[in-house]
Amino acid sequence: MNIADLFPETYEASRARFRDDLKHVHTLWRDTSLQLHCIDAPEDLTIDWIAAHAAQRERLVIFTTGEHGIEGYVGSAMLKIFIDEFLPRLDPRTTGLLLVHIINPWGMKHKRRTNAHNVDLNRNFLWNAEPDQSFNPDYARLAALLLPQGRVTNVAASNLAIAVKSLWHNATLGATRFGRATRVGQYAFPQGIFYGGDAIQDETRVVMNLLREWIGAYDQTIHLDMHTGYGPRYQMQLVNSASEPRSSRECAAQFNYPSVSAATASEFYEIHGDLIDYVYTLARAEFPGKRVYSTTFEFGTFGLSTASLLRTLQIKILENQVHWFGACDEVRDRIARDFESLYAPRENDWRAKAIADARQAFEGILRAEGFLQ
Ligand SMILES: [Zn+2]
Repeated sequence: MNIADLFPETYEASRARFRDDLKHVHTLWRDTSLQLHCIDAPEDLTIDWIAAHAAQRERLVIFTTGEHGIEGYVGSAMLKIFIDEFLPRLDPRTTGLLLVHIINPWGMKHKRRTNAHNVDLNRNFLWNAEPDQSFNPDYARLAALLLPQGRVTNVAASNLAIAVKSLWHNATLGATRFGRATRVGQYAFPQGIFYGGDAIQDETRVVMNLLREWIGAYDQTIHLDMHTGYGPRYQMQLVNSASEPRSSRECAAQFNYPSVSAATASEFYEIHGDLIDYVYTLARAEFPGKRVYSTTFEFGTFGLSTASLLRTLQIKILENQVHWFGACDEVRDRIARDFESLYAPRENDWRAKAIADARQAFEGILRAEGFLQ
């Protein structure tokens, strides 16, 4: 399969390929089934997963993609590589599989990061808590920057306004506090970016239930979650939970992988209500004694320079503004193209490096955790 063919053009094509892969998995695991959850929407949208149990439930691989909708175009390619190249190297007698195709199908189909209710699902995995509107009070100070009102009529003028306001807030709040306020998550502005919702979402609940059922059934779990966007352009980063007991340096050595960080303010950025933290919290609270390693594959696109981070913020803000307030076709298309280049790049060199990094990380993690035969 050539590189371009690995990356699906549509949600439907990705799903059809995944469903077709059931028979491939079935040649290796006898106890295999395709299961799905219909999204409550007028369109044909489903969360699909392949469930393959081992006779002796020792080890489990959980693979998730598309929590941020549009990021599922890259995630789907990585899942395909994992199925084709790494499943044949696992031991079906002792190793189970839970392969989740796309957690947020509405977002993938409509090329947004959020679900249909504008919820960033990676701020919605809250442990035994309702979303707290008072969390992240700095976000309200930034509302004029992050939530501009009205139709987008002039992209250059909007970008300039965002740049000037960002500089101002950077100077007054400080870069660390400014970055945290924009990205950590918020529960008070339903039309804002990084909105974590006013309740646990349907998609989140489906994944929470799967995690509880499957992690509870096995001695040891590896969970790999695919994301794109933040980070250096040509180096995928493994981003661990702050709850992972090993340091990033230890993981890098054990996995023979050059770029590992933790989702803390000093190493990556802090996130409230994220999926991989939830996995650790669940395991500790309900399954102490089980061994769990959960991590994010973060395929960076624009890079980490100040200019790149500003460009990222501009695109995020304008994409959201167009969603709520509209724009003429020309502006809408331009912003959609920018958004796609940020979360689902088409450049061949980028894709080739992303694939090489993913292979190296799959190999390193599976080997270090004792999953390879
Ligand atoms: Zn993401």
